[in-house]
Amino acid sequence: MHSPHDPFVRVRGAREHNLRNVDVDIPRDVVAVFTGVSGSGKSSLAFGTVYAEAQRRYFESVAPYARRLIHQVGAPKVDGITGLPPAVSLEQRRSAPTSRSSVGTVTNLSNSLRMLFSRAGDYPPGAERLDSDAFSPNTAAGACPECHGLGRVHTTTEELLVPDPSLSIREGAIAAWPGAWQGKNLRDILAALGHDVDRPWRELPAAARQWILFTDEQPVVTVHPVRDADRIQRPYQGTYMSARRWVMKTFAESKSATLRAKAERFLTSAPCPVCGGSRLRPEALAVTVAGRTIAELAALPLTELARALGSPASETARVLTADLVSRIAPVVELGLGYLSLDRATPTLSAGELQRLRLATQLRSGLFGVVYVLDEPSAGLHPADTEALLTVLERLKAAGNSVFVVEHHLDVVRGADWLVDVGPGAGEHGGRVLHSGPVAQLADVPESATARHLFGRAPAPAREVRAPRGRLTVGPVTRHNLRAVTAEFPLGVLTAVTGVSGSGKSTLIGEITEDLPGVGRLVTVDQKPIGRTPRSNLATYTGLFDVVRRLFAATDEARSRGFGVGRFSFNVPGGRCETCQGEGFVSVELLFLPSTYAPCPDCGGARYNAETLEVTYRGRTVAEVLDLTVEAAAEFFADTPAAARPLGTLLDVGLGYLRLGQPATELSGGEAQRIKLAAELQRGRRGHTLYLLDEPTTGLHPADVEVLMRRLHGLVDAGHTVIVVEHDMEVVAGADWVLDLGPGGGDAGGRIVAAGVPAEVARAEGSVTAPYLRRVMH
Ligand code: ADP
Ligand code: ADP
Ligand code: ZN
Ligand code: ZN
Repeated sequence: MHSPHDPFVRVRGAREHNLRNVDVDIPRDVVAVFTGVSGSGKSSLAFGTVYAEAQRRYFESVAPYARRLIHQVGAPKVDGITGLPPAVSLEQRRSAPTSRSSVGTVTNLSNSLRMLFSRAGDYPPGAERLDSDAFSPNTAAGACPECHGLGRVHTTTEELLVPDPSLSIREGAIAAWPGAWQGKNLRDILAALGHDVDRPWRELPAAARQWILFTDEQPVVTVHPVRDADRIQRPYQGTYMSARRWVMKTFAESKSATLRAKAERFLTSAPCPVCGGSRLRPEALAVTVAGRTIAELAALPLTELARALGSPASETARVLTADLVSRIAPVVELGLGYLSLDRATPTLSAGELQRLRLATQLRSGLFGVVYVLDEPSAGLHPADTEALLTVLERLKAAGNSVFVVEHHLDVVRGADWLVDVGPGAGEHGGRVLHSGPVAQLADVPESATARHLFGRAPAPAREVRAPRGRLTVGPVTRHNLRAVTAEFPLGVLTAVTGVSGSGKSTLIGEITEDLPGVGRLVTVDQKPIGRTPRSNLATYTGLFDVVRRLFAATDEARSRGFGVGRFSFNVPGGRCETCQGEGFVSVELLFLPSTYAPCPDCGGARYNAETLEVTYRGRTVAEVLDLTVEAAAEFFADTPAAARPLGTLLDVGLGYLRLGQPATELSGGEAQRIKLAAELQRGRRGHTLYLLDEPTTGLHPADVEVLMRRLHGLVDAGHTVIVVEHDMEVVAGADWVLDLGPGGGDAGGRIVAAGVPAEVARAEGSVTAPYLRRVMH
């Protein structure tokens, strides 16, 4: 059926996860969006089927021996796919950046900048030209020899080592010293060296204090331990070690975590005195381009970096600079011009990181591939959405196909092709409702996407609530905020808006429990609920404790003497020991990223055979962990302790998640909603301030409605909710809006407008206002 001229990717019989034997044809060389409510199966189709199959073929082609691995990992459940190009995935989850990676390394811009310094930098007279490696703090050739390229060094101070200078050494003035025998030993050595160990520390001569704390000398003296009257000790040879030396050695070498933690209390980190925090060796810092060192250029926001490079004199410099500037351009277009090359990736949001990777792809020179993206609009202000579409169009123009899982309706409208999956989540979804031009979705009545995309029902008019007080935050001077003072009304729902990098997260990060009026503060962020596959929503919400108690209380468990611990996969006893309860084992392959395969013994069940002989209402504990929240809510309907947490999970739109789905497989948005559910379930008394950073990430507009109903419910119950949001429907439905900007980085950081939504929608100079006006009725 397939000819090389067939312009379609044709998927036949896709059954991954909840997909119901899906057949779908998607044209190549277009921007195609995949839509549908959360859990409908979009990712199962785009990532789990199309991308996974492309990946499988790639493995097979580069390494025939990978066949065995693929067999273990399991090929996607699909009868066949034709017309499938190689695929590149830019997925938000499961991409843990290392702490040494930065904006510069992720985008490869650092390489280009180093090349420029190596080939066309201004060197001091007589200096040898350096290799481009010598400009990288991550190589032996470039790293500052003092701090090994870390930029900071550990030091200690007299104030830290001696917190109470009114004490004598005998009374324990040197808090950093070890206790018991070792401490007494050091004190006796000092006495033997002629120091007065009975005078208050502050009365000792400065030179003595300095020597005692900081010397690198290690004199050996004969100690006569006289003062322990009741025990007779013989003289011995003792070696002195200064307090600093002791702390550093313990911190660096001790095998005891407790001792290391104690030592750390006496350390502070300070910028490296040799490289000044730039992490580079002096020879590299002596080279300049346009009058600045590479460290100085790497600290500039990208918009300024492009300007600072100026118009170079030499031809080599011109070529290299032009290349660099053209690589910076798409990053700036995607609203990330406020970032600097030296910004560490762990400080970036998942959305920022994905857009950086996306911008980088524009210069990869790849063509004929299919890019698969996961909600690239996450964290993006509506003002920057057009730029996102332009970038997707450019990838397409370069001869690629672009498949995007996306909820943002402007991105959906701008696509060439739409694949709508649904109609519901989990077993209520898994069908392709529409695959064709966007406009034709209007004819599909059962599509939730259609309802929101065309002639949406206006949100029910809601009275703006009156605040019950105010919370003053600031003045804040941090990142790009300069002495900003913000007022947050209490007892209402506030939306904080502004383009990416305008300072929203920085501002709300200043809200703390000790501010007057806050009461309890609950921050619901997008950080993972756990870093290992051992955490999942059941363990996080406490639901799993209930489940294990139910299993332990069955007759079968009792007669075998199985307690609650038997049903844990985290401790030996009931779990499968081959995989130690993980359900899968890691497979290392030469030249390929290591990957996971289901455990050969338990087949992914995580438990040993005896444990699985115990059932509760006909299901094993492994089968219960495999239930979706929705199915579990039915299964446990008459067990309130389980039904309550499950109910709140349903409320925040997570009915499609399986109880045992590992934390590492959850998106940031899902993690955030699990935390929210865990909070809701507690039912706080007294005033609580809830702080949420873009809670609508990953949510279909239909799910956003459900979530917002919950958040407004919290306000109606007397609490305060503050959200950072880009979804203008959510902003329009808030009681108060605080708009930051106008731009990102140094072009932002001010409060541009504050007021009820109708006021902010009319505010002059606000980038948000025009987008807010569009949705206000
Ligand atoms: P969407 O991308 O539309 O939010 P998904 O494709 O992630 O939806 O999920 C569709 C269904 O498949 C859901 O019911 C989900 O619980 C289930 N599912 C997702 N990942 C897995 C997995 N690794 N194993 C089993 N079921 C899964
Ligand atoms: P928003 O939340 O509006 O996207 P942020 O508060 O994250 O904006 O960022 C505001 C400014 O502060 C930006 O210029 C950003 O680069 C900078 N910034 C944010 N976090 C850090 C950090 N951890 N280190 C250095 N700069 C930061
Ligand atoms: Zn250094
Ligand atoms: Zn196992």
